[in-house]
Amino acid sequence: PPFPLRMEGEVISGFGRGSKELGIPTANIPVTGVPWIEGAESGVYFGYASLHLPASHPDLSSSSNNWRTFPMVMSIGYNPFYKNTVRSAEVHVLHSFAKDFYGSWMRVSVSGFIRRELDYVDVESLIRDIRVDCEVARRSLERGAWGPGKEGKWLEGEG
Ligand code: ADP
Ligand code: MG
Repeated sequence: PPFPLRMEGEVISGFGRGSKELGIPTANIPVTGVPWIEGAESGVYFGYASLHLPASHPDLSSSSNNWRTFPMVMSIGYNPFYKNTVRSAEVHVLHSFAKDFYGSWMRVSVSGFIRRELDYVDVESLIRDIRVDCEVARRSLERGAWGPGKEGKWLEGEG
């Protein structure tokens, strides 16, 4: 199906493999019931993620509702490096958070595809590629000058 592709869900615990310690935390949401996920190519995608945060959350700017939208890079697939057997969707939000947001509702609008999923010989190579993915995502979203564009309203909780 064409971009943008949407999914949403509660931020749950992931594989607990310490992505955060590697400097690349990934917010996991369930993929069950997302119609386009099965057919999506395994790989790295970019777009926007919006979080419905508790009123007390330090990363909530003075927005009227409790939603805040950020650029993101997303991995869809089996993550061969970690030999997963179930398909996962993990979102690295391009923002430095003062506090975790487990349990919060997340809306994701996928704008495009960066690259297919690769296997890696070591974790350093994996991290190096993810850093590049983050740059590609930032630049693509800037160049588009779309901002969240038409997706903005949905990302901020409407519809
Ligand atoms: P898990 O295995 O539980 O997914 P991670 O090490 O991948 O653990 O950390 C993910 C958690 O870190 C998220 O659920 C979220 O609460 C928090 N977090 C903090 N900063 C970010 C970020 N920039 N992107 C994604 N998640 C983040
Ligand atoms: Mg994770």
